[in-house]
Amino acid sequence: MDLTKLTIAEARRALDAKEYSALDLTNAYLDVIRVKNPEIHAYLEVWEESARAEAKRADEMIAQGKQMPLTGIPIAMKDNILIEGRIASAASKILENYHASYDATVTKKLKVQGAVFLGRANMDEFAMGSSTENSAFGPSKNPIDLSRVPGGSSGGSSAAVAASMALAALGSDTGGSIRQPASFTGLVGLKPTYGAVSRFGLMAMGSSLDQIGPLTRTTEDAKILFDAIKGNDPQDSTSLPETGRSDLPSLEGQTFQRPKRIGVPRSFLAEGTDPDILKRFEGQIQKLAKQGYEIVDIEMSHVPYSLAVYYIVMPAEVSTNLERFDGIRYGLSVPAEGIKEVYSKTRGAGFGAEARRRILLGTFVLSSGYADAYYRKARAVRSLIRDDFMKAFEIVDAVATPTCPAPAFKFGSKSDPLAMYIEDIFSTPANLAGVPAISVPMGAVNRDGVDLPVGIQIIAPHRREDVLFAIGTDIERA
Ligand code: GLN
Repeated sequence: MDLTKLTIAEARRALDAKEYSALDLTNAYLDVIRVKNPEIHAYLEVWEESARAEAKRADEMIAQGKQMPLTGIPIAMKDNILIEGRIASAASKILENYHASYDATVTKKLKVQGAVFLGRANMDEFAMGSSTENSAFGPSKNPIDLSRVPGGSSGGSSAAVAASMALAALGSDTGGSIRQPASFTGLVGLKPTYGAVSRFGLMAMGSSLDQIGPLTRTTEDAKILFDAIKGNDPQDSTSLPETGRSDLPSLEGQTFQRPKRIGVPRSFLAEGTDPDILKRFEGQIQKLAKQGYEIVDIEMSHVPYSLAVYYIVMPAEVSTNLERFDGIRYGLSVPAEGIKEVYSKTRGAGFGAEARRRILLGTFVLSSGYADAYYRKARAVRSLIRDDFMKAFEIVDAVATPTCPAPAFKFGSKSDPLAMYIEDIFSTPANLAGVPAISVPMGAVNRDGVDLPVGIQIIAPHRREDVLFAIGTDIERA
């Protein structure tokens, strides 16, 4: 029996039935990692010893009947999520030797459950990118076609799960970094509602956009992992309250209403999308119709501006968030004459080209002469994008788009930054609106004789991950 092809749900059942131990399961993954990681480079660091110790502890929990949904489940952590005592580099030279001094809230929650941490997964530096080519430590490869990227920025996470080097992984999604790599590697990727999962201990990229979420083999697994990490956290000021506010929808105690209507913003999809992807998408929509969903054409007139808005709001927040890496407080410090020199030398040596580009762009759009023309304008359009979703959700239960305009691309093929940014066309609207979105595999498109997986994206109203899980499960069933 191949222990590395399981889902979380299957592994849970077998672990509880004592068909094999958590240590067996972890060892199976460590074996694959040893063989495949040198080529695929999903992990920047593998924690063999501590993973085995955690697996043994998980076995004790199971023996005592104290297991939880993730007890003994081996997972990969994106390198921008803190684990106390471990290096967390965000795939940047500036944090190459930085050891986290505390656990992220999601880390704490996983530790309580007795999950097994296999290692830290590669990513684009500070989560900026769509391919892992911006990692300071070299890219990860797509296990389905090694000449292609695994997506990004959570590309190490997606490559790890797709190559059976982890049962599941955590990623972060600021503008698509969980969903796009999931789409490129045939996985399910969930970006939760803004504030549903604590960002305490996640290295901030775009603070008004970031969310941590799961990359898994199935929708059911995405739900299991999401349930384990969600919840209010007083240490994150943007964390959503659990209950008790009548002005916020709460699912507690509410009977679940099956989603019935799916909106498709067709005019938004047509432009620039690979025809094979559009065909797959329409095929998938037809299947959903056959399953009983009503498919509704919707107009979202401001959503097409999402990419432009994102590439103003996000760099503005990046430039602010990365200010702290100054050679004094964290990580790398290049000795120089005087404090200003330390700043500039450290940041010049520590940040890669994309990080520097976004810091410059962000500083520009926030500068006094241009903030009105760019940053404030973008914020205004952002609220119109949010309104588009609010209006759509008066008519439909969810919105569907392809996750990405094209399948996984070859290394080096998007050296023009704008070509890379266009990748995010369908994923950024959900981050700007703060609503949850999931990517679920919808088959493959063939390129050079290889079947490359592609995903369909489902977007739901604020706090309605339940809608995503219901539709995701139906997509898998079809
Ligand atoms: N690809 C997008 C970017 O480069 C998204 C990144 C992310 O979600 N972290 O900004």
